[in-house]
Amino acid sequence: VYDKIQIPAKGERITVNPDFSVNVPDHPLVPFVEGDGIGIDVTPVMRRVTDAAVRKAYGDKRSIAWMEVYAGEKALKLYGSNTWLPDETLDALRRYVVSIKGPLTTPVGGGIRSLNVTMRQVLDLYACVRPIRFFPGTPTPLKESESELTDMVVFRENTEDIYAGIEWPADSAEVKKVINFLQREMGVTQIRFPASSAIGIKPVSREGSERLIRKALKYAVENDRRSVSLVHKGNIMKYTEGAFRNWGYDVARHEFGAQPIGDGPWCRFRNPRTGQEIVVKDVIADNFLQQILLRPEDYDVIATLNLNGDYISDALAAQVGGIGIAPGGNIGDGVAVFEATHGTAPKYAGKNQVNPGSMILSAEMMLRYMGWTEAADLIIRGVAGAIAARTVTYDLARARTAITAPHKPGEHPKATEEV
Ligand code: NAD
Repeated sequence: VYDKIQIPAKGERITVNPDFSVNVPDHPLVPFVEGDGIGIDVTPVMRRVTDAAVRKAYGDKRSIAWMEVYAGEKALKLYGSNTWLPDETLDALRRYVVSIKGPLTTPVGGGIRSLNVTMRQVLDLYACVRPIRFFPGTPTPLKESESELTDMVVFRENTEDIYAGIEWPADSAEVKKVINFLQREMGVTQIRFPASSAIGIKPVSREGSERLIRKALKYAVENDRRSVSLVHKGNIMKYTEGAFRNWGYDVARHEFGAQPIGDGPWCRFRNPRTGQEIVVKDVIADNFLQQILLRPEDYDVIATLNLNGDYISDALAAQVGGIGIAPGGNIGDGVAVFEATHGTAPKYAGKNQVNPGSMILSAEMMLRYMGWTEAADLIIRGVAGAIAARTVTYDLARARTAITAPHKPGEHPKATEEV
């Protein structure tokens, strides 16, 4: 029994199987966080689109019993006393397994780093999953034919790496202690300016790497994908990023029966569901950023560390024009929170102007995760149809410009909006 959260009478709990797959009843209880700022614009639209897709796909047989849970400014109003992320919200997200959220304001000061980061840590949502796909008609910085070749799903490790926030500022007593330890006990000589250095620590574990890469490999099997690429800087950071790569190949060989291609380390295995071959390969992160522009068709599922994943997800989203419509999910062992990847855009809040695409496509990922693929497919068709028909919000409309008049050197070309 919760304090503020009302549990709908009609609806059942999604549960997690021992292999971390989920059991979804026909009328599952699904928690949602409306979100701050433009959450009020995009979350209701997402619910309407999702309900319509589910009704169209399954009639009365299936429906979602939405259950509102609170975080951010709405929680603060409702629970008071500086409660941005109530315990009962975290409990509901865990207990009801699959949920979706709008963007949340990051409170300034008050000792809270970020609600999103806290949520990921407390619920151990160790994989940040971002599908990157192109919808024809979306304005992108590439030629349409090149954008069309970009179709990837990024699995970014969410809990480790230099991103874990273990660092000490220059001149602090703590950093002096760490530098002292490194120099005296560990024989480190290569800190260039020890007197004025800050220090950050990069933990990368076998367990953390294996569970992320295992998830990416399973995804490739379940979604009939052609390859999984481990993206790393192991040439420089041998024991962290290099180990990530080696542990990845170990998982592919030991748990998926992959066999080396030639002398290895690239390897391959047959998808037990479809018989298709899945190739497991690796690529150095800087080269990868070139390759996604030069040969995007060579890449499919991507597994990478936290910081690389941050850069790669945004670069790929831009490549398909999708920063404003890029969806995401944070997934642990069963428990998953899907979310729009943009922020709260406070300037537009309540004006019914912003793009609900990111939130709608996050719901599409959620339906697919629940195994409701027919409804998910309908959402993809709907979004693709709306973009192709140019029924789009201002962010896509204003990017779709064409040069109309010839211009002299030094003169700015005149651009007109096509939509
Ligand atoms: P933002 O994403 O809110 O805005 C960046 C730009 O994108 C702005 O120009 C905005 O108008 C535009 N934009 C964002 N979403 C859009 C949409 N759906 N349709 C059209 N245009 C859209 O990022 P910001 O300004 O850096 O951050 C604002 C607040 O959001 C901060 O409090 C930040 O902490 C928070 N934030 C939350 C999340 C999250 O909850 N996942 C993510 C990023 C930022």
